[in-house]
Amino acid sequence: MSRDGGDRTSGTATSANAAATTLRREHVAVHAPVDIVIEDQWCKSCGICIDLCPKKVLAAVPPFLKAAVADLAACTGCGLCQMLCPDWCISLEPS
Ligand code: SF4
Ligand code: SF4
Repeated sequence: MSRDGGDRTSGTATSANAAATTLRREHVAVHAPVDIVIEDQWCKSCGICIDLCPKKVLAAVPPFLKAAVADLAACTGCGLCQMLCPDWCISLEPS
């Protein structure tokens, strides 16, 4: 430990933390094939999942504008839709 109370290894630790953060971000960006299951009898057509999906995978289907998968190939498996649906309608399952 240095005279100012700091840890001499903090620079190394900071680099390691930065690398770990980079790895986590890369992990999120990696394409993760999933099936998206939407329980449409529970869907109240709020549109939250559609608006917040970063890849525009989901769309509102007439006449009731319930959420449905429009472009599964674009899905990264990030899980945002599953986490943000207020009615727990969406689940991601390994494909
Ligand atoms: S998992 Fe992510 S990319 Fe896939 S539909 Fe949900 S929010 Fe969109
Ligand atoms: S967030 Fe849930 S309730 Fe809202 S549109 Fe999407 S699936 Fe339906």
